[in-house]
Amino acid sequence: MSGVEVITFGCRLNTYESEVMRSQAEKAGLNNAILVNTCAVTGEAVRQARQAIRRARRDNPHARIIVTGCAAQTEKQTFAEMAEVDAVLGNEEKLKSASYRALPDFGVSAEEKLRVNDIVSVRATAPQMIRHIDGHVRAFIQVQNGCDHRCTFCIIPYGRGNSRSVPMGAVADQARNLVESGYCEIVLTGVDATSYGADLPGTPTLGLLAKTLLKQIPDIRRLRLSSIDSIEADRHLMDLIADEPRFMPHLHLSLQHGDDMILKRMKRRHSRADAMRFIEDVRRLRPEMSFGADMIAGFPTETEEMFVNAVGLAEQAAIAHLHVFPYSPRPGTPAARMPQLDRALIKERAARLREAGQRLHQTHLDSMVGTRQWLLVENSGLAHTENFTLVAAPGLRPRDLVQVAITGHNGKHLDMQLLAADAA
Ligand code: SF4
Repeated sequence: MSGVEVITFGCRLNTYESEVMRSQAEKAGLNNAILVNTCAVTGEAVRQARQAIRRARRDNPHARIIVTGCAAQTEKQTFAEMAEVDAVLGNEEKLKSASYRALPDFGVSAEEKLRVNDIVSVRATAPQMIRHIDGHVRAFIQVQNGCDHRCTFCIIPYGRGNSRSVPMGAVADQARNLVESGYCEIVLTGVDATSYGADLPGTPTLGLLAKTLLKQIPDIRRLRLSSIDSIEADRHLMDLIADEPRFMPHLHLSLQHGDDMILKRMKRRHSRADAMRFIEDVRRLRPEMSFGADMIAGFPTETEEMFVNAVGLAEQAAIAHLHVFPYSPRPGTPAARMPQLDRALIKERAARLREAGQRLHQTHLDSMVGTRQWLLVENSGLAHTENFTLVAAPGLRPRDLVQVAITGHNGKHLDMQLLAADAA
């Protein structure tokens, strides 16, 4: 191999940062190197990263292997002690070309491989300009990083530090750059995106940022948010939901559970009633809105009754895109010290919650048949509707925006008949 290859795990923030890492490493003149951008959200994510590192070394015996990302930040020793690894960079260091110029020599000790600072001490997030997101037709833009909350199950703040926002001007420059490169859909992403702006002069909000981008950059055809915490949604966001057709009718919520006692033990800031109130308010403003949600099954102390409340919330809210996470104890988090459920029970409940999610997704697909939709065609021969539903798009070109009639579905994606094309 030659050049710089990037292997990305985890969230859209990592996808964005992997592009920054690639351009910074190339700027530093790095060659014959593999960067592994890890995720620490679950034990499984860390296991997969270690597996990918071993495979990369087997397939590239002479390449330099550099591990970064949240698992590198929170479990740096684990990776430094792997013989396959040449360097371990923290989440801050991975974004700087200087880090790729000052890499340790081959064969040094585990200690010498480490370039990981105290991420909680980081106060600002340096805007990074990219023009391209490899393999994607939707452009992710990092607007915020880190998190000031401390949900008891979550390791992210220990991997990404406290909340910090990218100034509005820098976000607008980045969006303009990507639109000029031909991206017609922009996805604003962060760790806790709804806390955007709390650390900036004038404390702008996420909703105000989105409003400003759509006003200043008319060529943004579709603006989407990666995920939000419903309890922190601001009035500008509600305005966009109600009145702005370019603001996509799809919100992915960090719900996590549907039982108030478990939400309390998770240290979440919303109750079940708060979440339902937000969803009903949004549906009144924008009836075609679809909701996705992250939910955890098998959180410590969860009883059968509490679990049924979680399934009940997903059903009451008619979540169309449910992402289920079997609870995974993360080192150093308060929940890892709580009485744990049996692994088999966690897996069984996750399977039941996923089944509920599939039933809800079926109902959502059924409701889309017979409608007309605008699609953005992806690289995979599939496309996304505005409300983030997958559609088979055989014979259509990636990045095309097309209007279609939905004719049916196969349980996973919708089928369509082309009406009009509006080549982006
Ligand atoms: S809000 Fe909670 S779940 Fe989300 S990143 Fe912060 S600590 Fe983790």
